[in-house]
Amino acid sequence: MKIGVFGSGQLGQMMCLEAIPLGHRFYCYSPEFSSPSEKVGAKAVVAPYDSFSEIENFLESVDVISFEFENIPKPTLELLDKQSIAAVYPPPKALIIAQDRYLEKTHFRKLGFRTAEFFHLTKGNSHLKVSIPFPWIIKTLRFGYDGKGQVKVKDNSEYENFLQTAFENEKSEYLIEEVIPFQKEISIILTRFQNGDLVCYGAVENEHKNHILDLSIFPARIPVGLNLEAIEIASKLAESLHYVGTMGVEFFLKDNKLYLNEFAPRPHNTGHYTQDCQSFSQFFLHVQAITGNSPPTDVRPKPTLMKNILGNSYKESILIANELMKDDRYRLHLYAKDEAKQGRKMGHLNFKGTLEEVNPLFHEL
Ligand code: ATP
Ligand code: MG
Repeated sequence: MKIGVFGSGQLGQMMCLEAIPLGHRFYCYSPEFSSPSEKVGAKAVVAPYDSFSEIENFLESVDVISFEFENIPKPTLELLDKQSIAAVYPPPKALIIAQDRYLEKTHFRKLGFRTAEFFHLTKGNSHLKVSIPFPWIIKTLRFGYDGKGQVKVKDNSEYENFLQTAFENEKSEYLIEEVIPFQKEISIILTRFQNGDLVCYGAVENEHKNHILDLSIFPARIPVGLNLEAIEIASKLAESLHYVGTMGVEFFLKDNKLYLNEFAPRPHNTGHYTQDCQSFSQFFLHVQAITGNSPPTDVRPKPTLMKNILGNSYKESILIANELMKDDRYRLHLYAKDEAKQGRKMGHLNFKGTLEEVNPLFHEL
């Protein structure tokens, strides 16, 4: 099939690397030249995300549309939703919900899931008293990633300071959230197929550094019951969205209770371990689901670790990765980005084994 994906970053790159050997042709649409997806052979359409004429041409040239990036403008998602030229998986409505933190958390609550307390802050209601106990995290309503656009506020005087500049742009909107002093962060990576069946390997445990994912540990070291509960919540969420494809669902774990944080309507950084877990990768499963294949029924993923490689100390990290790759349990995945900037995700190293077995050098990446 001809697969057309919005976005052209590393997630599209890794989808493309699974799609081509499965006999598909892979096209990516984004405003970027020389993107990670194009560098591994995706045919690139370089155009803005709001150019309806370019998008209509793109739709004509493919059989199925998908996404590797969720911040596509809403009018474009609405266009994709109502056209009938190409199939679109996941449904654009899932992206509309995911890109607005208020819609997203309201949707979670409607389904009966526990979340942090939250308040949708706009210029119009900023005089109101917010009844959430401090401390808070205030997040921009849209377009945040890797903790960007987030501030911690510990009392009223810090909140008043925040408000002084918060609406310099009148259109700014925020979500105020109660801080959950969690013991662990976990995520569920699942793939839902067109017949409604799901493939899910269970929870993965995640550690962040400077608000950016650093390490993922599969399987998560949590009680069986909590693992099942997290799978069930993520499955219900996927069903409620009529989702098809791979998604990532993030949770906080506090006092043996799960708090749903957010979901990503695409393969997820915390699912990169699946590339080396000796079963199917999240990208393979995504491609299989959106192209109408049946789900696998026999999957045996093994313990795996994933460590992100950022631009900060890129050269040193590559030296360490090459040293570690004298051992056949390590696998390096680089995204072919041109410039190694501070905080930019450049690649990751997977280890086929457990924390007890890994070389301590792994933690120095
Ligand atoms: P990303 O792209 O990294 O997934 P994001 O910028 O969309 O993230 P979140 O995932 O909501 O934003 O927040 C990033 C991190 O900040 C979380 O993984 C968690 O460590 C911390 N965090 C966010 N919200 C809360 C909260 N309510 N209580 C405690 N910690 C939080
Ligand atoms: Mg997150």
